[in-house]
Amino acid sequence: MKRFKWAAILLVLFLLLFGNAAVEPYSVSKTEFLLDTLVTVTAYGKNAEKATESALSRIREIDRDFDAYSETSEIFAINSAPKNTPVPLSDDVFFVLQTALEFSRLSGGAFDITLFPVTKLWGFGSENERVPEDRELYEALKVTGADKLILDPSTQTVTKTEDGVQIDLGAVAKGYASDEAVRVLKENGVRHAYLDLGGNVAVFGGKPQTLLQRLFGAKKQDFSIGIQKPDAPRGELIDVIKLSDGFIVTSGNYERYFEEDGRRFHHILNPKTGMPAETGISAAVVTTQNGMVADILSTALFVTGGELPEPLAPYVDSYFVIDNTQTILQK
Ligand code: AMP
Ligand code: MG
Repeated sequence: MKRFKWAAILLVLFLLLFGNAAVEPYSVSKTEFLLDTLVTVTAYGKNAEKATESALSRIREIDRDFDAYSETSEIFAINSAPKNTPVPLSDDVFFVLQTALEFSRLSGGAFDITLFPVTKLWGFGSENERVPEDRELYEALKVTGADKLILDPSTQTVTKTEDGVQIDLGAVAKGYASDEAVRVLKENGVRHAYLDLGGNVAVFGGKPQTLLQRLFGAKKQDFSIGIQKPDAPRGELIDVIKLSDGFIVTSGNYERYFEEDGRRFHHILNPKTGMPAETGISAAVVTTQNGMVADILSTALFVTGGELPEPLAPYVDSYFVIDNTQTILQK
């Protein structure tokens, strides 16, 4: 008993002396502006430094290949190709296109990667933000629709059925990058991590336990993921979700927009009209076990106003929407 007392006193002294270092597991957190947003990768454990760098380097690669505005990107090559001409694709781009086109179909067209001719007219986030004229929207919508892209797995190519068809992977690239970053971290021996790619959050392994928790046999801990309150200052939360492993993605009308004549025009478009989707909600939040799917579904659910198309149900773990009065509508 006496010995136990001494051991306890020594432990307390040790913790007091070495403070956080003894209690908190080693972690590395790096932030970089990629994929048009702030990307933060936080990894825990002894290989965290190298693993975080490798994960960021993989995200940089995806950023380069998926940027529709960069003349050296594969997406640029697709967008400038004439009709009926197969364009060879890398494994990455082929896989993402295949998934995106499949989900366009499953979502009944609410999710549509061929909206680039329309999003370019709006110019969201650029110096040329403006409300397009009806005639311009009408012309641009003539060359949209997932059926205008034909994928051929045997040659790994995409062929456009009409001139002027152009793709925009803005609603899916961050999700895919989060999947890839998680894969790279795990390959590098990381067992706990938290990643945030501008509203696309990925976590795995739960929060690592402190020395004290391990000594006292505490259970696996969830990470806390804050959900931004729409139209409130950054960091003001409307909800906190607890999760140890998975992907949580938010699509919101407050992320990118401009105002004209007192009206807000935001960046998530209704593919039928080419206008910002207005369904009374300000955000859609989806949790799944795949980052790319979560990204696609949050955009699709924003467009449908939170109505989940039946064929998408098997892919969602849980979701909710926040309406225009800042109320969470649980689904
Ligand atoms: P997210 O923030 O993931 O919801 O993606 C929004 C981005 O995806 C926009 O900035 C556009 O580039 C693109 N986008 C807009 N509307 C759609 C839509 N209905 N389907 C697919 N992508 C879209
Ligand atoms: Mg998305």
